[in-house]
Amino acid sequence: MKRGRVLAVLVGGVFCLAVMSLYRMLELMQGAESGGRGDAPVGQVEEDLSRLQLKIDRLERLLVDNNRLVARLRDSLLVRESPGGRGGANASSAGPPLGCRKPAELKDGADGVQLLDVYDLLPFDNPDGGAWKQGFEISYHGDEWAEQPLELFLVPHSHNDPGWLKTFEGYYQDQTRHILDNMVVKLGEDSRRKMIWAEISYFSRWWSDIDDQKRALVRRLVEAGQLELVTGGWVMADEANSHYFALVDQLMEGHQWLQTHLGVAPSSGWAIDPFGHSPSMAYLLKGAGLSNMVVQRVHYSIKKHFARQRTLEFLWRQSWDSSSRSDITCHMMPFYSYDVPHTCGPNPAVCCQFDFHRLPGGRVSCPWRIPPQPITEQNIKDRALLLLDQYRQKSRLFRSPVLLVPLGDDFRYVESREWDAQFSNYQRLFDYFDQHPELHIKARFGTLSDYFAALHRRLSAAGTSLPTLRGDFFTYADRDDHYWSGYFTSRPFYKRLDRTLESTLRATEILFTLTLAEMRRLHDEGRWAEGFPAGEHYQRLTEGRRSLALFQHHDAVTGTGRDPVVIDYGTRLFHAILNLRQVLLSSAQWLLLLDKSQYHKDQSKSFLQMDEVISAEDALPQKTTLKLSDEPRSLIVYNPTEQLRSTVVHLVVDSPDAGVIDSKTGRPIAAQISAVWVEPSKASAETFQLSFVAELPPLSLIVYHVIKAPAGSAPRARYIVHRHGNPPPVHSEHFQVSRLEGAEVNTPLSLSNKHLQIWSSPETGLLQKVRLQSGLVRQVQVQFLWYGTRTSGDKSGAYLFLPGGEGPQVYSSSEPPLVRVTRGPIFSDITSCYPHFTHTVRLYHLEGHAGKSLEVSNTVDIRSEANRELAMRLVSDVASGNRFYTDLNGFQMQQRRTLEKLPLQANFYPMTSASFLQDSSSRLSLLSAQSQAAASLRSGELELVLDRRLQQDDNRGLGQGVTDNKLTASLYHLLLEDRRGGAKEVGGASVEHLSLLAHLASLSLCHPPITMVDPGEGSLPKLRPFQPLRSSLPCDVHLLNLRTLEDPQEAGSPSQEVALLLHRKGFDCDSTPDPLPTCSWSEDEEVDLDRLFSPLRFSSVRRSGFTLLRDHDEPDSAHQAAPLRPMEIGAFRVRLE
Ligand SMILES: [Zn+2]
Repeated sequence: MKRGRVLAVLVGGVFCLAVMSLYRMLELMQGAESGGRGDAPVGQVEEDLSRLQLKIDRLERLLVDNNRLVARLRDSLLVRESPGGRGGANASSAGPPLGCRKPAELKDGADGVQLLDVYDLLPFDNPDGGAWKQGFEISYHGDEWAEQPLELFLVPHSHNDPGWLKTFEGYYQDQTRHILDNMVVKLGEDSRRKMIWAEISYFSRWWSDIDDQKRALVRRLVEAGQLELVTGGWVMADEANSHYFALVDQLMEGHQWLQTHLGVAPSSGWAIDPFGHSPSMAYLLKGAGLSNMVVQRVHYSIKKHFARQRTLEFLWRQSWDSSSRSDITCHMMPFYSYDVPHTCGPNPAVCCQFDFHRLPGGRVSCPWRIPPQPITEQNIKDRALLLLDQYRQKSRLFRSPVLLVPLGDDFRYVESREWDAQFSNYQRLFDYFDQHPELHIKARFGTLSDYFAALHRRLSAAGTSLPTLRGDFFTYADRDDHYWSGYFTSRPFYKRLDRTLESTLRATEILFTLTLAEMRRLHDEGRWAEGFPAGEHYQRLTEGRRSLALFQHHDAVTGTGRDPVVIDYGTRLFHAILNLRQVLLSSAQWLLLLDKSQYHKDQSKSFLQMDEVISAEDALPQKTTLKLSDEPRSLIVYNPTEQLRSTVVHLVVDSPDAGVIDSKTGRPIAAQISAVWVEPSKASAETFQLSFVAELPPLSLIVYHVIKAPAGSAPRARYIVHRHGNPPPVHSEHFQVSRLEGAEVNTPLSLSNKHLQIWSSPETGLLQKVRLQSGLVRQVQVQFLWYGTRTSGDKSGAYLFLPGGEGPQVYSSSEPPLVRVTRGPIFSDITSCYPHFTHTVRLYHLEGHAGKSLEVSNTVDIRSEANRELAMRLVSDVASGNRFYTDLNGFQMQQRRTLEKLPLQANFYPMTSASFLQDSSSRLSLLSAQSQAAASLRSGELELVLDRRLQQDDNRGLGQGVTDNKLTASLYHLLLEDRRGGAKEVGGASVEHLSLLAHLASLSLCHPPITMVDPGEGSLPKLRPFQPLRSSLPCDVHLLNLRTLEDPQEAGSPSQEVALLLHRKGFDCDSTPDPLPTCSWSEDEEVDLDRLFSPLRFSSVRRSGFTLLRDHDEPDSAHQAAPLRPMEIGAFRVRLE
């Protein structure tokens, strides 16, 4: 009661203040009117006007301040108002936060499959299965199909990698365009012929080359059901390293293209080559409106087990979903590969004879040395029965008599001869089957939809249902102990660049959309401001989307392309970032201008530039040096997250005497001057790092001024520089540098803030121990390791990780590392400089949750090495047993079990953004800004592979090693938390979620603030901060995207329609942050869009599929409340008013 009254008084006070401010403003305006009347000289009027302007500015600032205060109060009220009465210091002990997710043991019905249990069950031996080497003998009587004939769909396909051995454009010119050209002709010749196509990047590229007549033919083939576009993504995406933002976006780019040009929505997914499969993809496909999917690269032992159990077809269910809402029908190919020898049946030597592209005299033949024969009158009976036997054997592995048999391979159907060979020989066989009803087979060419329609028809007729399955298909092995865990890390430089583009794209999409909305608000006509190049910007955005989308391909972000292809991708990513930055700068400029008429389209007149420069596709970002003079330099910080955040912004300036002031209040902001180290023990005498704490409202652009400060006034960091046994010479004229002396040399180095304390080894500088304010202490030792590869036989390469039998060696260098300790009011850190890497652990002295995690960063350079991989390992005393958790695509967490029966490389899993270890009283989370391989080889340990340099090919077709290493950066947050409320490990497979704090830490890590500066050439126009939201979104609601859709009437232009994508995160109950974050959350399943985004208003809100296809739109919703359950993504087609 009391607290409520105090709050009411406070809110009332704020309200009064706002009203009084408005009064004062009115008074001023009246004054100005009367003052301006009469015959005052022009100069006088101008002076009055500018004075008035200043006053208005001040009032506006006051109002903004008031708004912010109201927002904070509202946020805290929301937390306190919600039932359960959280809030206050004792809140955390009152029980778990509402809306959190308790770990749940997964129990499915008798017909439910849990992959973790399958892993426990299988021996992972590798016996010779005979003709089907990795399987078993399949038998049948022959009368199985007497009642229900075998219904076979032969699905022609051509797997076109958008870059691998050749670049995207190289493949397009040499192969893909001929395939598609021939497709139009050859499908047109016979209406019984069919074909499926997956990669929209190629399809749209080809579309831009062909004329209207050919386009009309294509449309006719699609309408007739002869050509089916499957999945409809821009690429057939990798499912291990890709982040779900990019997965949704590449799917949206493809689906939007299909809607615009062909008017179709895909219904079946086709992923035959990605190296392992993720349930996140299943969820996204389902959400995008697909009902079925096909996967192929699954561990051979799992395939065999599923074949025996006849569970190769299943309903893939999300682990966290207690309902069947997320279920999607999935077909897993049973055999080794998707080529013809491994798709007609279990015996590749037989199936190869039915790949008529391999007829004698051609370029390809059968490695089993029995060539195909053209089908003739003479041999047709023998050939048909031979093939039927394979079909029948394969059919025994499935529950229905409908059979899917793909017919294709990589870049197939290039020449018209190949089309004729496949289609006419198979048609003869089909005709023969038709003429012999006693064989009980109906065979024809089909698409995936044909197959799945028949499957569902037969299943429901028989009253059979498919089993449900939960879990994922990592880590993939195609044979022996060849586990594909190498590609989780290969080309880490580009895996990091991928995420830089991703965060830039998201930030730009949101700001561009807000800019157009603001323009429409100011111009009643509903168009954008004059001079604003909205169309050009939209095309830059489209290019950015497509570059990110292309890179999600399973030979791109995976790091498994040839060197020139990698450079081609890198160049696309790099140019995309540059282009998006133009859109970002231009949008920010317009939003910030007090007088919008001062907006200039001409880039040469732009008054902002990025603070960080990327000079080339293979270069790390660099800060530009701000030259300070007597004139303050303006600095704009954009917060692309939906949360109010306190964050430290770093700048490089040319003076050790510098400060930052808030442009609104004119008040100085807490700052720290640190050294810029040009060498491990040599500080630059010309440049300095200026760090300050920015308070950034959600999605805001905030203006600061960087100024020259009086000499010695800015707080400077103090340093300790140490090298065990060999103190280095130190060059630093501007900073106090000391050495470790006497007993200090053997005393652990320690840093602390109000939330935690850490200890590091004085000899290596590496972390040893963490203690929380609560008293929880955990050993957390950082180690670095080398993995080598085998001395004989198969060796590690771009795909495979085949470490030598002796396991990893602890990293050592001939000389102890140089250790540098920084202590300052804003942050403190410890840096260890080794020959192959520089490693920093940093503690921010920030209030709230931002100061609760450690920032860990590495720059790695292993170019001097051969056949080595560098890993970072955390060794803790968290009693995690053989369990740990890694994320799948940044979307959900997956339990992992380290199994001794598997080789070391099989126990590595992909980690896109998060992993954690836990016991009953603590959880140690490591959040990352890039994808890499992760493992927990022993209890309490967590390790990540940072870079790999491998001199040889690993026999998966790439034909080269991985030796194009670069100076590579990686970034993490390490978070130790108490687990309260008697948290227990669930016995079986369980679903766990990140903690609330881990979500917030991950959000700031993946979406850093974007800093822009004025170029320092003359005076700036008047700027006004931009704050579109009154308060933060709830802690667990993530604004995934706010993406302007293309104008259907005007190609290449932005429309008024926007895709609003929200993701409600599931968070763990057992670690309640104390103090609670300022954002609110609620147990309610509904979110009120208007309230979330106030004062922004949405009109014409339609819930839609994740890719915003018009067919999936639900009716315009009168009220703005929409159900959004924990873990779910909600997509809405909206207009911003
Ligand atoms: Zn491929």
